[in-house]
Amino acid sequence: MSLKTSDVFATLNDPVALDMAFIVGPILVTGIGYRLVRDRIMDGSIVVVDGDPSSGLAFYDSTEDKLTTQAGNPPADLDQRGLLLHECTHALIDVCNMPRVTRHIDELTAYIAQHVYLVRSQPTWTVAPNNPPWKAFFQSIFDLIKRHDLHNSNFAMITTDELEPLRLQLAALPYVNYGTFRKESLSGSNGLKDFGTFGRMSRLLTSMMN
Ligand SMILES: [Zn+2]
Repeated sequence: MSLKTSDVFATLNDPVALDMAFIVGPILVTGIGYRLVRDRIMDGSIVVVDGDPSSGLAFYDSTEDKLTTQAGNPPADLDQRGLLLHECTHALIDVCNMPRVTRHIDELTAYIAQHVYLVRSQPTWTVAPNNPPWKAFFQSIFDLIKRHDLHNSNFAMITTDELEPLRLQLAALPYVNYGTFRKESLSGSNGLKDFGTFGRMSRLLTSMMN
């Protein structure tokens, strides 16, 4: 089966997520932003749908304002909630309507937030074995978090320049499409669509029934 809307809410209501506050390039990641995402799910603006029950991948589609959950048996464990928070970070960027954010910075911010959440939730967390480019990428994210003391404290400011080596690592990762975007390609985080009262109601029902 796939994870449920209740798992998304459990992640968004987690005090660890709500306590986050830091800046990545032009993006402000805060608990307030995650609250906005939760509220937009609750009013049907963002819909949460079941993903492929055999796929470990989750998605956020900023055109359709749709979060697709990954495979898993509720309640989601820490790693699974980390991935849901990654997708909720894409939603946060979309909710805040930041059309100038690039695809790569959007993605790196989601990975940073995911790993801040993992390390704060479990201080003994270390990078798991993985195929070499992915392990090296996750290690670089982890090192960046340590360098800014983000595992312990808030208000770090990570500049786009500082992210450049990580961006190059991201663009070179296998099995994903990050490399098909150029450095300047935009993320498409364009705010939420107006689906109208009935549209939102039907989307809310979809979220509630999955
Ligand atoms: Zn992502």
